[in-house]
Amino acid sequence: MNDNLSRADGARVLADLHALRAIGAYKTGVHKPTFSEPHLASLQWLVQRLPEAGLTGEIDGIGNILGTSAKSGPKLLAGSHLESQNHAGWLDGPLGVIYALEAARVINRDPNINGAVEVASWCDEEGHFGSFLGSRSYVGGVTEADIDEARDRNSGRSMREALRDAGLAGRARARCEPGRHIGYLEAHIEQGETLESGALKIGIVTSIVGIWQYRISFTGEQNHAGTTRMAIRKDAGLALARFCVGIDETFPKLCGPRTVWTTGRITLDPGAPSIIPGAAEMLFQIRDDDAVIIARLEDLLRTMAADVSARGPCTVAVERIRAGAPAIMDASFQNAVEAASTAFAGGKSVRMPSGAGHDAQVLATVMPSGMLFVPSIGGISHHWTENTVDADIVTGAEVFVDACRRLLKG
Ligand SMILES: [Zn+2]
Repeated sequence: MNDNLSRADGARVLADLHALRAIGAYKTGVHKPTFSEPHLASLQWLVQRLPEAGLTGEIDGIGNILGTSAKSGPKLLAGSHLESQNHAGWLDGPLGVIYALEAARVINRDPNINGAVEVASWCDEEGHFGSFLGSRSYVGGVTEADIDEARDRNSGRSMREALRDAGLAGRARARCEPGRHIGYLEAHIEQGETLESGALKIGIVTSIVGIWQYRISFTGEQNHAGTTRMAIRKDAGLALARFCVGIDETFPKLCGPRTVWTTGRITLDPGAPSIIPGAAEMLFQIRDDDAVIIARLEDLLRTMAADVSARGPCTVAVERIRAGAPAIMDASFQNAVEAASTAFAGGKSVRMPSGAGHDAQVLATVMPSGMLFVPSIGGISHHWTENTVDADIVTGAEVFVDACRRLLKG
């Protein structure tokens, strides 16, 4: 068997990642918001690479790319995303797309392997316009009305306008064909420090956390900050601060071993130094891969809010604004990644949940799915300093290609 035919080419993988890094470069990272010029140029770049892997594909009507193969045998879908957060890292997304492309280049032209890898680039995983709009469109979860409503969270530009400006208006949207794929495999940087701190090379993802988000609103009474005695104030800001402390004291008693929670934004109304806030609002998020635990914590949140309202002087309302179910990664995919890690990463792997959301959680609703992680230096991500050691990128590519081959073999 010709070894060159069946292994990932590490130098080629690195060269491709650097080519994408040069498009929309920002310091040592990139700035490629969804449908920005560098994002569209990156999509065009990928379309031009597809024939090297025996694939054909175009950018579809929502900015996805699906490179499909005419080779006979089973098909494995693989990919990630090419847009970035604002002023963010060069590997978040492109790593998974280039690993998929490399797997397709290696496997699709190897006559000894029955089947092919098909390559996907999902649009807007980073949520500039919505939540997983590209992959959700592929699985049939996005209506035309959803696209009508979607707007860029920074510029306010509508998605329709962005699609028109990109020349994509009116194009059909690629839809998954039931039964076409044996499943979906995605690689990603870990975006945490579990692998680095354990001197490990590969994370075998067991599940992707569910993210539940809440708007917690406090109502008091707006008044003069100089003339209103402390005893009679109804300070909504103070009630909010106490509530945050309350969460910090009670959640640890009911959470799971990996539950995380975050107050990501606080607003005081009217938000002036000489005015007692009459209203306050916090955006609060809970993440866990066990929906039962999240539900238990939501109950606690609502009980706490009812207690505060009953005691006064302010009232509290808890509104759930997002509930994303956790996704379990397929056991055979986990086993394939583990076997590939034993073969190409000296077995330096660990099974772990993903604390970040990924397109694989959307694909997992329609087909068996799996993910693998490579280490992030210092656990840093969503920042332009995000990086991974070259040797780890190459090891990850070899594990990915081998895992694809194992999955196609069944
Ligand atoms: Zn990502």
